[in-house]
Amino acid sequence: EVKTRGKNGYQFFDPAFYGAMRQRKQRERELQAAIAGNEFVMHYQVRVEAATQRVASLEALVRWNHPTAGLLYPDEFIPLAEETGMIVPLGELVVDSVCAQIAAWTRDGCAPVPVSINVSSRQFNERDMHALFLQSLERHGIPADRVEIELTESTMIRDPVRTSERLQAMHALGIRLLVDDFGTGYSSLSMLQQLDFDLLKVDKSFTHRLGGDGQGEILFTAIITMAHALGMKVVAEGVERPEQADLLARLQCDELQGYYIASPLDAVGVQHEIRRRQAAMH
Ligand code: C2E
Ligand code: MG
Ligand code: MG
Ligand code: MG
Repeated sequence: EVKTRGKNGYQFFDPAFYGAMRQRKQRERELQAAIAGNEFVMHYQVRVEAATQRVASLEALVRWNHPTAGLLYPDEFIPLAEETGMIVPLGELVVDSVCAQIAAWTRDGCAPVPVSINVSSRQFNERDMHALFLQSLERHGIPADRVEIELTESTMIRDPVRTSERLQAMHALGIRLLVDDFGTGYSSLSMLQQLDFDLLKVDKSFTHRLGGDGQGEILFTAIITMAHALGMKVVAEGVERPEQADLLARLQCDELQGYYIASPLDAVGVQHEIRRRQAAMH
C-alpha cells in the first residue's frame, strides 16, 4: 500500500497505514497502563574483569511482562517510550526497582556487586537524574557507589554544559559514569575526559569485527591506549566467543560482557551466576 502512495497523488484511505496507526495507538495505551501498573521486570547481565574473571558489575536491562504478548525486550517498547516521553516515568520505575533490588540483595547477604543503569538521552535531558538517583538511593538506603549510570554519546552532545554539571554532581556522590555503545556516536575522547567518565563500553559491532582482517584489533588497541592515557577503563560488549575474550584480554581490555560470559538473567538467576563464579575462583 505504501508503495502506491506518492507519485499518483495522496491516498486518503490507506488501510495499511491506518492499521499501523491504530496498532501504535494501542501499544501506546498499553505502555501507559504498564507504567501505571509497573509491568516491568529487570534482568541483569554480569560484566567481568578480563584478567581475573571477577564480577565487576551487573547491567540492569528492562523487560516488559506484557499481559498477552509475553516478555517484551527493549527494542519493542523503548523507541515508543522515547517518542512519547513515557521514557521519563518508565526510567523512574527502573531506577527505583533497581535500588529496591540492591537493597533486597543486601538483606539476603549477597555479594555487594554494583549495578549499572541505562539512561537514554531524552530521559537524561528531561529529568534531573542527579535528584532521581539521590532520592532512590536514600529511599532504599543504598550507598552511591553501588550504582553506575550508562549514557550514550548522543546524550552528551545535545547539551554538553548542562550534562556536564549534572554528571559532575552524580560523580561527586560516588556514582560511576559509563559511556555506552562507544564508537557509534560523535564524542571526542577529550570531551569524555572532561566529563569525568570512568569507563567506556565499546560497542558490540567492534567486538564482532575482532579476529577477521585485523581492523577490529586496530580499533580496540587505539581506543584502549587512549582511554587508559585519559584515566578511563574499557569494557568490550557483545563478547560471544572465547577467541574474542582471549584477544581482548591480550589487548589489555579491562572488562568483558556478552553472551560468552553470561546472558542477562533474572534477579535470582544472576545471584546463582555470581556464586557459581565465586566458587570456581577458589
Ligand atoms: P545496551 O545498553 O547497549 O545493552 C546491551 C544489549 O545487548 C542488551 O540488549 C543485551 O541483552 C544485549 N547483549 C548482551 N550480550 C550480548 C552479546 O553477546 N551479543 C549480542 N548480540 N547482544 C548482547 P537488550 O536487553 O535487548 O537491551 C537493548 C537496549 O535497550 C540496551 O542496549 C539499552 O540501550 C536499552 N535499555 C535496556 N534497558 C534499559 C533501561 O532500563 N532504560 C533505558 N533507557 N534503556 C534500556
Ligand atoms: Mg547499556
Ligand atoms: Mg551498549
Ligand atoms: Mg545499545
